[in-house]
Amino acid sequence: MQDQFDRDINYLRLSVTDLCNLRCVYCMPESGVTKLRHEDILSVEEIEEIVRAAAALGITKVRLTGGEPLVRHGILDICRRVAAVQGITETCLTTNGTLLPKYARELREVGVNRLNTSLDTLDPVRYAEITRGGDLNDALRGIDAARDAGFDVLKINTVLIGGVNDGEIRDLVDLTRDGRTHVRFIELMPIGASADWAGARFLENSAVLRAVPELVAADSDGVARLYRLPDTDGTVGLISPISSHFCPTCNRVRVTSDGKLKPCLHSSDEINLRGLHGDALAETLRAAIYGKPQHHTLDGTTTSNSARSMYAIGG
Ligand code: SAM
Ligand code: SF4
Repeated sequence: MQDQFDRDINYLRLSVTDLCNLRCVYCMPESGVTKLRHEDILSVEEIEEIVRAAAALGITKVRLTGGEPLVRHGILDICRRVAAVQGITETCLTTNGTLLPKYARELREVGVNRLNTSLDTLDPVRYAEITRGGDLNDALRGIDAARDAGFDVLKINTVLIGGVNDGEIRDLVDLTRDGRTHVRFIELMPIGASADWAGARFLENSAVLRAVPELVAADSDGVARLYRLPDTDGTVGLISPISSHFCPTCNRVRVTSDGKLKPCLHSSDEINLRGLHGDALAETLRAAIYGKPQHHTLDGTTTSNSARSMYAIGG
């Protein structure tokens, strides 16, 4: 459906858990997060009901996220139910990849079409630092497992952190040379765990174009500006929420694992969906989507207005 600013809202990002097996410095507090009570997170049935209601309003793409969606008990059942909802043509999942060796094949079997894997570095020491203890090999094995399971096209999400991984831009871009890996550089956002230091480490995505000047512009893809190395099909995407607001083309809304709809990532507005069914759920969703704010106010000098951290929103 269209929102009040005539944007076609067809994409729902659905967080299925706040928990994670990593502790990325820009996302989670070092101590981890307090586990929500079982009854405080959306059940598999509630998720399915929300997706059905959203599909009836024109949502065609759902991305399951978290926290780490693969630590959610029942994740395969969730994926199966979401993929089976009439009108949902794309069921995607964003993961840190470390549990893909266990799940990749089954994710494919239950109807997940696409995977995004987060990977900020190819250096094992740096990986352990950024994720506070993660093993790069687990993430790389996860990417291999996804390929083996038949996820031919794979997107890798990389958060650029000034002075930390910007020296690896070219190596990360080179991953696209196989023609089927797509790398998306995401600007570091000052939210939650990174609210008070992201400004100092912020690097505009234009750093990618400076590091790899032979990149040529390709089509844009939703919120990402796309580029390619000459003679490769793999794309390099720049997602620049800070340096270049993509709000005019924003096509998404989010639902948190405890059932709050967030019309805008960086707004404090949250609309409760729990306990709503049938017409009440449909009407609440319709009103919330219609009322999506025109734009957020992040500009490199401010911090997010969101009351939640990224692990509690899903990115
Ligand atoms: N655990 C999964 C993962 O890491 O892919 C899914 C959830 S994670 C919150 C989703 C995405 O948000 C990841 O690509 C992560 O790098 C990104 N992210 C988290 N905090 C961020 C921040 N402060 N700025 C920019 N991106 C962030
Ligand atoms: Fe976990 Fe993803 Fe957040 Fe890293 S970015 S701590 S993997 S939820």
